Amino acid sequence: MALPQLRAVVPATLCGNRGHPVSRGTLGPAEPAATQNTAPARREDVTRMERLADQAAEELAGAPAEDVVRWATDTFGDRICITSSMTDAVIVHLVSRVREGVDVIFLDTGYHFAETIGTRDAVSAVYPVNVINVTPEQTVAEQDEQMGPRLYSRNPDLCCYLRKVVPLERALGPYDAWFTGVRREETDARSDTRVVQWDARREMVKVNPIVDWTQAQVDAYIAEHGVLVNPLVYDGYPSIGCATCTVRVEAGADARSGRWAGTGKTECGIHL
Ligand code: SF4
Repeated sequence: MALPQLRAVVPATLCGNRGHPVSRGTLGPAEPAATQNTAPARREDVTRMERLADQAAEELAGAPAEDVVRWATDTFGDRICITSSMTDAVIVHLVSRVREGVDVIFLDTGYHFAETIGTRDAVSAVYPVNVINVTPEQTVAEQDEQMGPRLYSRNPDLCCYLRKVVPLERALGPYDAWFTGVRREETDARSDTRVVQWDARREMVKVNPIVDWTQAQVDAYIAEHGVLVNPLVYDGYPSIGCATCTVRVEAGADARSGRWAGTGKTECGIHL
């Protein structure tokens, strides 16, 4: 398969120049906003990146996940990171087999199950990756004091925005691309997701190596490679978010039905 050769044409102005440097290991709140280069040259570079992402999406459609990962790591080098919810380590395992030392961004909302924090720590210990713990601007106590308790039950969209979307924007600053474990079958909103996407809002390339995998393929990969899995998955939580907004589901039920159950909300906003 002829793959688009992006490395030579990734604009130098985008290389590590989207934001401020990130400290490795942890990323807390309140760093100054990055200065945006809005010069016409950057506009041209961004347009070129968008075209190249579209080309990659065409040529990598249906390609094995390992090929997608290799293309992305060859293209972006250390300017690509992984985002993980720590439901399992499939994406971490896939990527780290191809390239070691990739940054893994974990959004530590302050509301996670203890098992999820334990999975994060296990991933950091077991795989050759660099886990970056990203925290919101405010602690849970500070948010409660300013906005009242249990914002997640009164306005979950705002809570997700403050504790997930904004911290992710800040954490993605140093990168030109990011890997996700998004799969088309997970939600209606994800049903037309491409293997490589141009994220216009963030001006980044989004790479989804397992976008066309079924849950059975995920399970088979986990079994074959002994991949780390959050223990809650085997206790009725096939999709895991904050403890405050995730409930156990019946066997065979829609895996995402335990997220924000009964509210109509299906996405936290970071993949929209
Ligand atoms: S999942 Fe719930 S607790 Fe977590 S950030 Fe979103 S609304 Fe807040």
